[in-house]
Amino acid sequence: MMQAQRSRGTPGLQGVVTVDLAAIVANWRALRDRHAPGAVAGVVKADGYGLGAGPVAQALLAAGCAHFFVAHLAEGMALRAAIGPGPMIAVLNGFPPGADEDAALTPVLNSLGDVARYRGRPAILHLDTGMARLGLDAREQARLAEDADLRRGLDLRFVMTHLACADEPRHPLNAAQAARFAEAAALFPGIPSSVANSSGLFLGPDFASDLARPGCALYGINPQPGGPNPMRQVMRLDVPVLQVREIGQGDTVGYGATWCASRPSRIATVAAGYADGYLRSLSGHASAAIGDRPVPLVGRVSMDLVTLDVTEFADVAQGARVTLIGGPGCSPDALAAACGTIGYEILTGLGTRYAREYLPA
Ligand SMILES: *Cc1c(COP(=O)(O)O)cnc(C)c1O
Repeated sequence: MMQAQRSRGTPGLQGVVTVDLAAIVANWRALRDRHAPGAVAGVVKADGYGLGAGPVAQALLAAGCAHFFVAHLAEGMALRAAIGPGPMIAVLNGFPPGADEDAALTPVLNSLGDVARYRGRPAILHLDTGMARLGLDAREQARLAEDADLRRGLDLRFVMTHLACADEPRHPLNAAQAARFAEAAALFPGIPSSVANSSGLFLGPDFASDLARPGCALYGINPQPGGPNPMRQVMRLDVPVLQVREIGQGDTVGYGATWCASRPSRIATVAAGYADGYLRSLSGHASAAIGDRPVPLVGRVSMDLVTLDVTEFADVAQGARVTLIGGPGCSPDALAAACGTIGYEILTGLGTRYAREYLPA
């Protein structure tokens, strides 16, 4: 890709998500170097954490990434159409019964039923070691290991597990899961293993495997919460100012009149809201940015609009651009911390009313 590409969204007074594919590739390379000699996949479920699975996967593919993970079959089929034949595309949630099996996707087998259904085609076996969501539990693992009939025709490319507490390095469940997985994987000798997500890549050699599965760190989310972020920021959401108005001391802004001007103020209204995934719980807690200066949110986030106090920004007028996410003080992680969630939710919530622009890798 030679130029910034634009996709989706409606033209006009809309926000623009700018995705820096070079930064995503740099993040992937850093994780690959960290995990060597094990390989590193790209997790692009939920439309590449809201940033666009197709463009992200194409950039990673060009950089040498050969394994991709999505959550749903439909995501896998769309991704296969986008990147063509060749690289593995694994479907974490497995295939639904009666699914179209022609898309050259790799199912993750999450139960003995899946094992029976998908023998004879390349698959990944999910061994649950402490998450209790999907995958074979310890009893089912033992049953499969003991029963040659059950195993007949199985064509396993990887055995995998998923860590529950990788973002809390001192949590005792990490070591317990590593030990349980070592035991469980030994029941399937010779099959490559897949363990770490983004945070797991920072837990040390006990969590190394043949294929790590990072998602969030590719997209600039800090895989080591509480410490400095080793990843590059990859996205920015810029939204246009629709109006700027002067209000007097004592005037209130927005639903519920939750913010009251303590001085004559200038209020900028911008075109994004909770319908675009800019969470209402950010009301009163977050800042945006104009250039490199933080600008405080005032009043409630509404469905399609956000209001900002631009009293200190004399030159902000209609049509100006405000960085709502990805500027100084408003990274996805910072916004998440301000409203009690995680950066993942800020990214995956990015709405469909924004345009997406891609800076080339
Ligand atoms: C989402 C997911 C990942 C990626 O996790 P991150 O924390 O985003 O790196 C890896 N493995 C499984 C099973 C997942 O569901």
